[in-house]
Amino acid sequence: MICGLLGEKLIHSYSPQIHKYLGDYSYDLYERSPEALEDFLLNGQFDGLNVTIPYKKSVLKFCSDLSPQAKMLGAVNTIIRRADGKLYGHNTDYFGFRSMALHSGYDFSNKKILVLGSGGASNTVCAVMEELGGNVFVISRSGESNYQNLHIHTDCSVIVNATPVGMYPHNGTSPVNIDLFPNLEYVMDLIYNPAKTKLLLDAEARGIPSQNGLWMLVAQAAESSYFFTGQTIDSKSIESIYSQLNLQMRNIVLIGMPGCGKSTIGRLLSEKLKRCFYDSDKEVERSAGRSIPEIFQADGEDGFRKTETAILRKLAKLSSCVIATGGGCVTKEENLPILRQNAFIIWIQRDISLLPTEGRPLSRTNSLNQMYQVRQPLYHRFADIVVENDNSPEVAVQSIIKQLEDRI
Ligand code: NAP
Repeated sequence: MICGLLGEKLIHSYSPQIHKYLGDYSYDLYERSPEALEDFLLNGQFDGLNVTIPYKKSVLKFCSDLSPQAKMLGAVNTIIRRADGKLYGHNTDYFGFRSMALHSGYDFSNKKILVLGSGGASNTVCAVMEELGGNVFVISRSGESNYQNLHIHTDCSVIVNATPVGMYPHNGTSPVNIDLFPNLEYVMDLIYNPAKTKLLLDAEARGIPSQNGLWMLVAQAAESSYFFTGQTIDSKSIESIYSQLNLQMRNIVLIGMPGCGKSTIGRLLSEKLKRCFYDSDKEVERSAGRSIPEIFQADGEDGFRKTETAILRKLAKLSSCVIATGGGCVTKEENLPILRQNAFIIWIQRDISLLPTEGRPLSRTNSLNQMYQVRQPLYHRFADIVVENDNSPEVAVQSIIKQLEDRI
């Protein structure tokens, strides 16, 4: 069986990875220009397709038959070539978002829900939320409710971002300031890269439960797979694929005192997990063209920290990498959302008496004990997982992998 994803630009697609878990069929990426669309749909070698930006509407006219969901949303994201060669169009985004909403455990009935954006995904979200009994308002840049009159909606309970604002590579931007909404109880973002958009990080900082779009991505693929093969994918399988993908996509960021073993462990971990490895201190040196002691001498700690934050901002946007950070990165509060947006953060703990000081400007001029007293609560604040490195780096690597697997 030949299946795949049709779109104009598909460089960052996770669909092949997801469909590998879902079923025994080939799944390729079909990047086609608008001019090549008709020929591909009529004559292309495929049995089933997923359809993505910008073709979810343009494929409608090539489908001889549409599912009720595709008709309702006026968009198709799954095409099946029937035995007679005719194309059947369906929309699995509806199932995907419905599954995401139910998975949240939140009761949307009678809640005021703001859906940001008025594109295809917004239509899907509105249809599902209305089915679940929500009281839905669309915020559109050109609509009656827009970003200039959000004050008329400050009583909303739920916000769903169905715009691309905050999506990689434009990390760190949010479509709204959530401080405007004192009654906010739940926040959803259809974006899954980064795992936590600024909107979700802001919600987290206010203690508001939130969810990204990864569950929807997996669930819509699962329903497509059912249409390709006829085999049902149960919710346990969706959960398992979601968890594996969630782990694979996130960076693993190592924090801890200077000399605690972050670089050695990071390199070993990256080899074991076949991930790219970055050492932020080395990246700072490369970008400045000077060694770290030289940077400290010329620019002081402040100058070093500024360059370090700029480097972390770049590295933390990546996915599936291992990143060893400098020991003092936790002293800058702004580094917390930067690192947290797409990573599991691991604190490598090592007995202070075992830490080296050679070539480390701050370790040589300060008492390590004093430095530890200041930084310990900060490492706690940043870390998702704590791992001891008082034995060998190999043992620490095993412990990191085990704790990450336990988490999923
Ligand atoms: P779309 O058709 O391009 O619509 C996005 C809407 O967002 C636009 O209609 C626009 O609405 C608004 N928008 C666009 N640029 C904006 C900006 N700079 N500032 C504020 N609003 C802006 O895209 P879509 O297919 O609906 O997808 C929307 C998002 O959902 C994307 O991030 C996509 O990746 C994500 N998505 C995720 C899944 C999943 O499985 N997790 C599935 C589908 C889509 P107005 O003009 O009315 O403001």
